[in-house]
Amino acid sequence: MVQLADLEFDNRFARLGDSFSTRVIPEPLSNPRLVVSSASALQLLDMDEGEAQSELFTELFAGHKVWRSAEPRAMVYSGHQFGVYNPKLGDGRGLLLGEVVNRAGEHWDLHLKGAGSTPYSRMGDGRAVLRSSIREFLASEALHALGIPTSRALCVTLGDNPVYREREERAAMLLRLSRSHIRFGHFEYFYYTQQHDALRQLLDFTLNTCYPQCLGEPQPELAMYRQVLQRTAEMVAWWQAYGFCHGVMNTDNMSILGITFDFGPYAFLDAFDVRHVCNHSDHEGRYAFHRQPAIAQWNMACLAQALTPFIEVETLKAEIATFMPAFEQHYLRLMRRRLGWLGAEDADKALIDQLLQLMQDSGSDFNLSLRLLAEGKPEVRDHFIDRAAFDQWHHEHHSRLGGENQSTQALQANPVYVLRNYLAQNAIAAAEQEDFSEVRRLHELLTAPFSRQPDAQNYAAAPPDWGKHLEISCSS
Ligand code: AMP
Ligand code: MG
Repeated sequence: MVQLADLEFDNRFARLGDSFSTRVIPEPLSNPRLVVSSASALQLLDMDEGEAQSELFTELFAGHKVWRSAEPRAMVYSGHQFGVYNPKLGDGRGLLLGEVVNRAGEHWDLHLKGAGSTPYSRMGDGRAVLRSSIREFLASEALHALGIPTSRALCVTLGDNPVYREREERAAMLLRLSRSHIRFGHFEYFYYTQQHDALRQLLDFTLNTCYPQCLGEPQPELAMYRQVLQRTAEMVAWWQAYGFCHGVMNTDNMSILGITFDFGPYAFLDAFDVRHVCNHSDHEGRYAFHRQPAIAQWNMACLAQALTPFIEVETLKAEIATFMPAFEQHYLRLMRRRLGWLGAEDADKALIDQLLQLMQDSGSDFNLSLRLLAEGKPEVRDHFIDRAAFDQWHHEHHSRLGGENQSTQALQANPVYVLRNYLAQNAIAAAEQEDFSEVRRLHELLTAPFSRQPDAQNYAAAPPDWGKHLEISCSS
């Protein structure tokens, strides 16, 4: 095992120079304490759980100390926010501390979110509040445990520093891990500022560090674009199959790795509603649940635009057109898995759509209904209003299921525990009173979401009335 003080850094992105990022030192949290840490994320850096108990751990991840070989930088990028191009964004409150190389030779970006102001902070204070840091921590680790591609979270620390949002809150920091922090918006920034040499440099960097398998292809740029598209399509398929609403699919929040990235007012659906909008600032419902695949495709077109200096427009158009079929293929595969259906049949899509329509009409709890179906529990019927229609659907489901052994597969694809907003809310309320036990408990349940755990029945239930329509502020 590696000790925290001995992590090895190789800061490749920093070496790209000042056109790409700016050196900034974190502004520490006062009186820092550790809220929660992730043992499985620590393992990615070859550290065991004990490492998080040291004072040094809290100091490093509350911005009090920086490794000598780390090189904290704020990255510059731009992006389309709610469909409108914003020419200058960048890390306004997060820093890429550096790239750790683990024993397997993998580079992991350490990104400290809430580390204070940077040249890209615009009007912001450079801080993150406890509530949003806990939400990103829990979501990253919960998605990962479900098998959904995502950035990871190592820990959250809390300080005494006041931060002013709708009310006075306290500043926190989240340590995010990802193999890369390059976003679609990085490419857009260099394209729209007409820095084509830097754009080329960024493209080569991304090819070398994230997509080396494309280097041997006749057109490496095109091969990379194709892979980003395939991965993004698969990621959104996971979201749709598990009821995850990202909430702010701006192109600056889209990872070049095709992983879930930059969590804001996200939500897992409770009652199934295709039109669900989780971000209460999204008045037009641009990022409503059912629009996510089309928005991801739109974002792929933004990335394509930024690559037009290197790839023919017609070629890019043809690639963009492959997005929906790719999405659909992954989505059907994942839904079949959740329903325990083996193989693929032509009628599957229609049968899935029928179930979702029944859920929509009944406001059935999405993940709970699917889990009850997988468990073969008759009470699943109580979650539907039109019982006759459900019985008819269930009959066809039964014929589609065929043999016995599919149920094991379905149990492993249907979580008992889902990160419902109200569960996160309970954990946040306790943490705001300095009681971190609930965040830790919830985190633990969500890291093994498929198996029932003792004394956790409440966590598996649909939300109580107060927890059904929580408004999640996007100010974070
Ligand atoms: P987000 O909505 O978190 O994806 O952030 C969008 C942009 O606003 C990014 O450039 C962030 O760095 C910046 N930003 C968000 N919150 C703050 C803040 N409190 N201080 C400075 N910049 C911020
Ligand atoms: Mg963002």
